[in-house]
Amino acid sequence: MAPLVRSCMRVNWREINAAKNSFAALYAACEASGYLLNPVNSPEADVTCYSLNTITEQKLRDEITAAECITVAGGPHASACYHEVAAYADYVVVGEGEYTLPQLLDYIGNGIPGAPPPGIATSGGYTPACHTVILDAYPPFTRRKGYIEITRGCPHHCTYCQTPRLFGHCMRHRSVDEIVKAASNYRDARFVTPNAFAYGSDGITPAFDKLELLLRRLDNEIYLGTFPGEVRPEFVTPESLALVVNYCANRRLHFGAQSGSDAVLEKLRRGHTVGDVWHAVDLCREYDLIPVVDFIIGLPFETDDDQVTTSDMIREISRYGSAHVHYFMPLPGTPLAGSEPRPVLREVDKTLGRLALAGKITGSWINPERRFFRQRPDSHV
Ligand code: SF4
Repeated sequence: MAPLVRSCMRVNWREINAAKNSFAALYAACEASGYLLNPVNSPEADVTCYSLNTITEQKLRDEITAAECITVAGGPHASACYHEVAAYADYVVVGEGEYTLPQLLDYIGNGIPGAPPPGIATSGGYTPACHTVILDAYPPFTRRKGYIEITRGCPHHCTYCQTPRLFGHCMRHRSVDEIVKAASNYRDARFVTPNAFAYGSDGITPAFDKLELLLRRLDNEIYLGTFPGEVRPEFVTPESLALVVNYCANRRLHFGAQSGSDAVLEKLRRGHTVGDVWHAVDLCREYDLIPVVDFIIGLPFETDDDQVTTSDMIREISRYGSAHVHYFMPLPGTPLAGSEPRPVLREVDKTLGRLALAGKITGSWINPERRFFRQRPDSHV
């Protein structure tokens, strides 16, 4: 393939709903290196970039294979299955893209001889990246707006989750100054983070003083512990809830329970118990916050009893708040990759269906692509 001159090389970004925040972050990173990512709905010359999760990969694989331009794929699925994706995409960005993607564009545009930069896989091989992105080195967005990513990486080991496999186990936080700068573009402040209550901490032991420093500095309507940055149940304490009540606009708090069975939680390596979840629910009620709790149904090692117990817990929680329920999907790169989801029991399906009809739960426990939802309650607050 003839080398392209960087100044006239057109670099496109394939618009994918699920990857809007990745677009915002990578737009900013590429812009800093002199590349403007042009949004497109199909591959176009000279280069088209994709961010793929496990669902979108199935839909876009043929499109990428047939593309006549240079194709670059990244995102959680491509990172976990780079070998497979490199069989049909020209280049695969493995892991974080802020530093690697502009380097790859330089390599393509300038026709640099030899292997592509570290962090890129091709059908010819792969050299792992030798860097970790410091969040302050890149703004969370520029012209293409996105949520503000305040923290990346997670010290926990939940066996179904791609986050620590993609971003590592060490929490990296954006500084208060940089968050405040980004938030000045918005009336509301909403954050991307694996655990919003873990800001400033190692993700195991809270550092609520650092979180409060951030909240004090923001001149926005703040939404903390709601989509797209939920919290872990053991971080729900009187201190963290007081911060929400005193500084934030949301009156809902979103956290993950995943199962109503301690045996299942242990196998998931969640690092908390069912008791922690109930404690979080009780505290929310005490602080006049509505709990919104995540569950996964159909986990491979769930017994019938575990599944019924989980569905009972969902029903009970829905008396005080609501639940967000998903059918288990084994994700590549995780310890549960390749495992078989268990079918949903008829009685559990009925219970969940009834609760969904009553508007008490949302999610997709039958088919990962089919979702039951209602408008985000906080969206008009
Ligand atoms: S589910 Fe949440 S807490 Fe668990 S590993 Fe993933 S990001 Fe971390």
